[in-house]
Amino acid sequence: MKRKSLKERKEALKKRQKEETANRNNKNQGFKPILDLSGYDEVEFFKPVKGDNRLDFIPFTITKDWMPYEPGFDDYKVDVWVHRNVGPNNDRVICPKTIGKACPICEERKNMRDQGDDDGAKELRPSLKCLYNVINADDRDGPILIFEASQFLFEKEMLDEAYSVLEDDVSIFDPETGLTVKFRATPEKWGKADYFKFKSFKFEEREPYDDSIIEEAYPLDSLLVVMDYESLSNLFYGIPESPEPTLLPKPEPEPEKEKPARRRRTRPTSEPKPEPKPEPESEPMANENQCPSGYEWGVDCNEKNECQDCPDDIFTRCADEQDRIKKAEKEKAKEKESPRRGRRRRV
Ligand SMILES: [Zn+2]
Repeated sequence: MKRKSLKERKEALKKRQKEETANRNNKNQGFKPILDLSGYDEVEFFKPVKGDNRLDFIPFTITKDWMPYEPGFDDYKVDVWVHRNVGPNNDRVICPKTIGKACPICEERKNMRDQGDDDGAKELRPSLKCLYNVINADDRDGPILIFEASQFLFEKEMLDEAYSVLEDDVSIFDPETGLTVKFRATPEKWGKADYFKFKSFKFEEREPYDDSIIEEAYPLDSLLVVMDYESLSNLFYGIPESPEPTLLPKPEPEPEKEKPARRRRTRPTSEPKPEPKPEPESEPMANENQCPSGYEWGVDCNEKNECQDCPDDIFTRCADEQDRIKKAEKEKAKEKESPRRGRRRRV
């Protein structure tokens, strides 16, 4: 072990305190936080309460090029794949595929599946979370809060409802013209775990926020703690690393050069989703209809009951095709307007 200078040790101790201070109210989710909040004095998380909740979503400006839009545009969320129960402390860690990088845990998951150990592989599946900046609409003068929610239990429900009740051009997330999202949280149990189901989404008109509130939002994409391949591999396999002055890994410092992470929809199941995987270079028969249930390949992905039982590899390829289609549509839409300045009218 390289000897640390007293100054280094003091600095590290100070940083450690800051990290723990920022996270002091959020210690129920494993030892390692998935966000590096050491740059903030105090960060509050939104915790849904049983019954009615009302939230205003605040976009942030994108800083990472693995996001769906390029840096400089705004987004209302970050999709994050999370592995649970990793290493001796059962940590939650971000799957590096979130930012388009290789993941040793997902590789092991594939090995297990290839060897027929489907149960083992299932254990290693990452689950898809969404991180948002929100303001409690019942406390509009309160701080911006970070909200971490399951894509399947929250985001999907919210967007499904928005899709069916709102006009196409209504933006829920625009600071000025956006809407308050009201929903009901119902406690549920799955095994030993308690969690909320989110239902009864309603969209209410609200007072505008100034657009400048975007500058106050947490830059969620740049706060993700994504361990490098070797460190994550060591944690996963229980290999102790040589001690460093910091106990927490830093987020990637430079812009990612690899391909963007795939955004994956969730199947209607309470199980974690199939892993995201890098852009397929040469998917076989990508345009032919390979759906075992006879639905439209890439179009009906995750829309039909049968999707729940679809074999992982087929579902993943179908999802890839859906991504490709959506991406092409988005590229088209992007040419027409900038999402930052696109003012939407409400009806
Ligand atoms: Zn992974």
